[in-house]
Amino acid sequence: MHLERRVLITGGAGFLGSHLAERLLKQGCQVLCVDNFFTGTRHNIEHLIGHSGFELLRHDIAHPLYVEVDEIYNLACPASPIHYQRDPVQTTKTSVLGAINMLGLAKRLGAKILQASTSEVYGDPQVHPQAEGYWGNVNPIGPRSCYDEGKRCAETLFFDYWRQHRLQVKIARIFNTYGPRTHPNDGRVVSSFIVQALLNRDITVHGSGEQTRSFCYVDDMIDGLVKLMESPAEVTGPINLGNPTEFTILELANLVIDLVGSRSRIVFKSLPEDDPRQRRPQVERAHELLGWQASVSLREGVKRTIPYFESLVSQGLVQRVI
Ligand code: NAD
Ligand code: UDP
Ligand code: UDP
Repeated sequence: MHLERRVLITGGAGFLGSHLAERLLKQGCQVLCVDNFFTGTRHNIEHLIGHSGFELLRHDIAHPLYVEVDEIYNLACPASPIHYQRDPVQTTKTSVLGAINMLGLAKRLGAKILQASTSEVYGDPQVHPQAEGYWGNVNPIGPRSCYDEGKRCAETLFFDYWRQHRLQVKIARIFNTYGPRTHPNDGRVVSSFIVQALLNRDITVHGSGEQTRSFCYVDDMIDGLVKLMESPAEVTGPINLGNPTEFTILELANLVIDLVGSRSRIVFKSLPEDDPRQRRPQVERAHELLGWQASVSLREGVKRTIPYFESLVSQGLVQRVI
């Protein structure tokens, strides 16, 4: 008999997955981390290797997986535009075939399964802020579609397994999240700006910088994901998880320059195709159903993130800045 919960984290060597693994090990769970290292690294989890509750398996979830667990967090998927556009077909396969395999695994085991969905299911939203009932404005054939439509199809599969097989499913729609261990070269805006500021290089603002995002610190996000997994069976989601305080990208650039104490200048580059103009979660559902809300401000979160990138820079581990 297993006294500890056995938890599978797909994408466990990535940014969110590695923080989640740490949290669940602290709670006394046994953690099986499955990752194909497409964007994740051993560096993110090397401090967990050797922990008696931690196991690592190199595997691509687009292929079937036979293991024995009680809960599944399905996080595997490249998350930044630069990464998910590198091999778009593989991105869709990871989302769609990966969801089918993980749902098949959950069905065989009677395990609870949580999907890391995304605010990208709302596309370039015409409703602001975005509530879970909004169906989105997504281009089906654009450069972001492999990610957006893959995640939308995964949500469909989760709800069909719930309706058809009565599986216990949970869907989190994650909004922009940042913190230590975001990949330094994947072009995500908070880490890119911090690295550029630390190196006193130009801060590359896309477009006019008036587009907005709402940024959530990683510790808050992990709290939200764990609370969702632990919520009663009838709470399936989708539930928005994010910090509702909205900033323009230009405001973020100035904040980072200020907190790093950098000499960087702001330069303007072209806006990528299909780049959403605005994004802010409506978070009442998470508050009501999970008793959760983000508590770390952007200023505080950026302060907590800077030392991680300082250490990468000082070790020469940041070769290229987008
Ligand atoms: P990440 O790139 O750091 O982590 C993803 C992990 O999945 C990596 O370790 C990667 O190697 C692994 N992976 C990719 N394809 C795989 C496959 N086929 N099989 C096994 N492993 C695979 O990204 P992250 O920011 O930690 O994102 C984790 C999840 O959260 C993703 O599903 C992402 O879509 C979702 N999400 C993240 C954010 C955010 O702002 N960080 C926002 C919305 C949604
Ligand atoms: N699957 C898996 N691990 C399991 C059980 C199933 O990876 O422990 C995969 C299996 O390859 C299958 C998919 O999950 O293709 C969907 O499983 P399901 O039982 O829903 O469908 P079926 O096997 O009938 O196609
Ligand atoms: N962005 C930017 N400069 C950069 C990287 C990103 O101005 O060096 C912008 C990007 O165009 C988008 C916003 O910042 O408008 C957030 O980008 P990110 O890739 O982090 O997240 P997403 O677009 O997926 O929300």
